[in-house]
Amino acid sequence: MTDRMTRKVRTRIAPSPTGFLHLGTARTALFSWAYARHHGGEFVLRIEDTDVARSTQDSVDQILAAMHWLGLDYDEGPIYQMQRLDRYRAVIDQMLAAGTAYRCWCTPGELDAMREAQRARGEKTHYDGRWRPGPGKVLPQPPADVQPVVRFRNPPDGSVSWDDLVKGRITISNREIDDLIIVRPDGVPTYNFCVVVDDWDMAISHVFRGDEHVNNTPWQINIFNALGAPLPLFGHVPVILGDDGQKLSKRRGAVSVTAYEEAGYLPEAMLNYLARLGWSHGDEELFSREQLVQWFDGQHLSKSPAQWDAAKLAWVNAHYIKQADDGALARLVAAQLQRRGIAAEADAADSTLARMCALFKDRCATTVELADWLGMYFADVAPRAEDVAQHVTDAVRPAVRSLRDALADAEWSKAAIAAAIKQVLATHGLKMPQLAHAVRVLVCGRAQTPSLDAVLELFPRATVLSRLQSP
Ligand code: GLU
Repeated sequence: MTDRMTRKVRTRIAPSPTGFLHLGTARTALFSWAYARHHGGEFVLRIEDTDVARSTQDSVDQILAAMHWLGLDYDEGPIYQMQRLDRYRAVIDQMLAAGTAYRCWCTPGELDAMREAQRARGEKTHYDGRWRPGPGKVLPQPPADVQPVVRFRNPPDGSVSWDDLVKGRITISNREIDDLIIVRPDGVPTYNFCVVVDDWDMAISHVFRGDEHVNNTPWQINIFNALGAPLPLFGHVPVILGDDGQKLSKRRGAVSVTAYEEAGYLPEAMLNYLARLGWSHGDEELFSREQLVQWFDGQHLSKSPAQWDAAKLAWVNAHYIKQADDGALARLVAAQLQRRGIAAEADAADSTLARMCALFKDRCATTVELADWLGMYFADVAPRAEDVAQHVTDAVRPAVRSLRDALADAEWSKAAIAAAIKQVLATHGLKMPQLAHAVRVLVCGRAQTPSLDAVLELFPRATVLSRLQSP
């Protein structure tokens, strides 16, 4: 058995804090987390903040909050790369001493000229190795006024191969690969270098990440090898495409986990939906977190891009809303109502708000839709003139007045309200929909709702009476 097969499973997610937690990163985090949990391993959160100009604390906070919301708990971290600079410097010094890295004093202008000349000769642009030491090679005199970069001395020949957990065997010739800059002129090491030192130090056994990184992997493997560090296994997950078949991007709609939280999606629905984007377990569409962990063994990851399907996500969310505990739902809806300036009490599981959620949740795909419905209980309604004209007709008006009178004296319970409605229908010789539509339009602001007695019972009596005041 090879060393790699006997290693403890340790996975990681390594977001750059330059924005919110992107859905693609969340999905990779989910795969990494589920893989570690499936194998009884460990999951590490690393914050790749070496792009100092674009990294922000606000973004770190958002990423942590989104991970927490999704329930992706980590065993180590957050580990910040900027707090590991001493370690990177020590490794760079080792590499310079070992000759696996070297300083390069090329200025940006020189590099531009180099590329220009290569283009003019019809060559693919590449670093020409002018500062790369070699046997018998005389290097130029380092200019005093230029801050050098450090480059990795990539093997000039042969090729790099790995068995990608998602894409299968990948081989890239070293001739395709430049001597990569691993320390910038400002002394800050670059992504491809830090990631290797980190994955090595953190004993990462499996790297799942987006396939935009496939081209980085040969460099990373070469750096691992130069350091004598054990290689992790790599799995590059294809991108997520938007509804329109283009790469999921901000311009095409919400791409952050936080936006979906705000839009009224439940974390368990999001987790379930994201897991199915590019992974399958038979034809299971709805599964719990525990089932995901039980099933996620790194197999059945799709080689082709997954397509975002807003309608399917809404369907999955509707399923979890139906299943949700009404007290928990009430707290989420209270938060949604709060955003609209409506204070609603959600504390007790048997609160009125929880009962409202129970009554309406079957027809809602998000807690935002639920809040849309429940708004009528907390704020005035403005029925549309055409609904009033259609349903609150002269034929129905006297019955509405009778119902108002009956409700003024009735016991305030669903059964008593139902009895009052029945009585009024009999007295006025009307059919249920005629009266119910009119009452709904006046009290609820719309003609369709769940069963009228159940809907009315959840209003304070005074509100119903006042909305039925002058039909
Ligand atoms: N910081 C990189 C990113 O956000 C991580 C890449 C990796 O997982 O190696 O894309």
